[in-house]
Amino acid sequence: LDPGSNPIGSAEKEFENSLRPREIDDFAGQAQIIENLKIFIKAAKIRGEALDHVLFHGPPGLGKTTLSRIVANEMGVQIRETSGPVIEKPADLAGLLTNLEPNDVLFIDEIHRLSTVVEEYLYAAMEDYRIDIMIDSGPNARSIQINLNPFTLIGATTRSGLLTAPLLSRFAIKSRLEYYNAGTLEKIIRRSAALLNAPITDDSAAEIARRSRGTPRIANGLLRRVRDFAMVLNDGQLDLGITQHALKALNVDEHGLDEMDNRILSTIIEKFKGGPVGITTIATAVGEEAGTLEEVYEPFLIQEGFLQRTPRGREATLKAYEHLGKQPRTGHSP
Ligand code: ADP
Repeated sequence: LDPGSNPIGSAEKEFENSLRPREIDDFAGQAQIIENLKIFIKAAKIRGEALDHVLFHGPPGLGKTTLSRIVANEMGVQIRETSGPVIEKPADLAGLLTNLEPNDVLFIDEIHRLSTVVEEYLYAAMEDYRIDIMIDSGPNARSIQINLNPFTLIGATTRSGLLTAPLLSRFAIKSRLEYYNAGTLEKIIRRSAALLNAPITDDSAAEIARRSRGTPRIANGLLRRVRDFAMVLNDGQLDLGITQHALKALNVDEHGLDEMDNRILSTIIEKFKGGPVGITTIATAVGEEAGTLEEVYEPFLIQEGFLQRTPRGREATLKAYEHLGKQPRTGHSP
């Protein structure tokens, strides 16, 4: 499972929606992306045209859905949301597209999971705002062309490596969301706490931020759990003491690493003497796809200095050994 995107129940979805910023200025971090989007949105509005198609890619929980809704909101248009695996046939896609008002946004989450046929229909829709669909079958089969209102497709994916070149090339705006630094996460946590009417100290917010794997979704989830502990044990006050107590009780890793992160590191150290070892070998050993390791897990481990890429494969760093309480091999270069 992807971190931060575990299947979530409707109560959790509701919680998540309640904390979602709706205005572009409430969206913290990702400064370059926001700055560019503001320009593109303004320009499209001046021209009275649909915004160019946008692809948001990057690990789960970093704000791709949130940003898509903000874009529609800023454009002053409606957003229709669906996801790659839900659009089973071209007719499903045609149904979605023909219901769009001029300049509306169609949001397709997990766009890497679109079927090949549906994807091919999407090309003409994106390029020329038209779709050709087959009606009838057998000797009566014929294709009719339907003109669509201009629209913006916003695709989101954790696995941009799986997108085909023709699809990628049809997105004029491609933005990769990065992990958030602790300062930005702290800001997000303080905003969320205020919305939840939960009094929180700065050091408590900083502690949660540090242990959230650079991910707003995880930060908000931890805040929610810490709030439970604070309500029952601390009169609702979120301070450093109750935060540390809660995070310990919840088994949250000191550095915010999740179970798969730790499994990757311990596999490299225990089975492959700390590396270097190839990504596909690691993938087989931990039971995950190599592409998912590369696009979803590895970037955080590298950014935080637990893993390094070398020409001969991945190596666990000294920090990884220390984190797992293992003795580095002698002669191991960190
Ligand atoms: P993704 O679509 O990338 O998986 P979401 O957009 O669903 O991520 O974001 C997950 C949660 O994190 C949402 O509840 C949202 O409120 C919060 N969030 C994400 N990015 C930000 C941000 N930049 N500022 C504030 N909250 C954010």
